Amino acid sequence: MSIICPHCGEKTLPREKTVRDGLTAVGVRLVCPFCGGDLGEPPKSEAAVKPVAADSCDRLAALLGEVEKTVKADLAPDEDYGRFCRNCGNFLAHPFKCVCARDHREVDPMGECEFFSKKEE
Ligand SMILES: [Zn+2]
Repeated sequence: MSIICPHCGEKTLPREKTVRDGLTAVGVRLVCPFCGGDLGEPPKSEAAVKPVAADSCDRLAALLGEVEKTVKADLAPDEDYGRFCRNCGNFLAHPFKCVCARDHREVDPMGECEFFSKKEE
């Protein structure tokens, strides 16, 4: 998608340029390869499918350890599904921690114990 550069008047193919603040990348702008003039922000969709963005997204998900587990539990419930503490009638979710109603100790939502009793919906 070539455009006419408003800065130098040449027919140009905008090029992405990473904007840095010191060593930190703070954004991406389109620039004219002829004169270096600023041509605005790249379209959002293009930025979203960039491999680098997808990579860091995956890494973040892996760090949180949430996404994959949740999807797996929802799409492919296996024999043990439903025995997690978070599915137990004794499980109490407080704003900052999760506790078991049996002894009020902190529990792992993904944990399980012998006193599991299925929570009624
Ligand atoms: Zn130009």
